[in-house]
Amino acid sequence: MTTEKQTFAVGDRVEQMCVTCGEERGHIVASVTKKGRVTRVSCPICGSRVPYKSGAGAAGTRASSKAGAPYDQTTTYRRGQTLMHPTFGVGEVTAIIEPRKIDVLFADRMRRLVHSAQPR
Ligand SMILES: [Zn+2]
Repeated sequence: MTTEKQTFAVGDRVEQMCVTCGEERGHIVASVTKKGRVTRVSCPICGSRVPYKSGAGAAGTRASSKAGAPYDQTTTYRRGQTLMHPTFGVGEVTAIIEPRKIDVLFADRMRRLVHSAQPR
């Protein structure tokens, strides 16, 4: 069952099949209606922006099968790597923003984290 009353904001995460990537993955909400319904989403990996297909794809997809190593600021991450954040849970690195900053897609939304920090 879908949570019909749930509303979304730009930057939230939704699961959708990406035709370009050929697999179902978390997408970033790119635009919503005034009522909070998702209209367009973008794939963080290939960057394609597509209409959101509500209810499409397998429900209840869980990332538990590929839980990553614990998040560590001093680690240098690559796009597509999975990590386990103590607060936010499992996330997937979707982009390297700067040498020291990465965008990570968690179960609920995208967050910007530090990486490749100098160890003390
Ligand atoms: Zn894609």
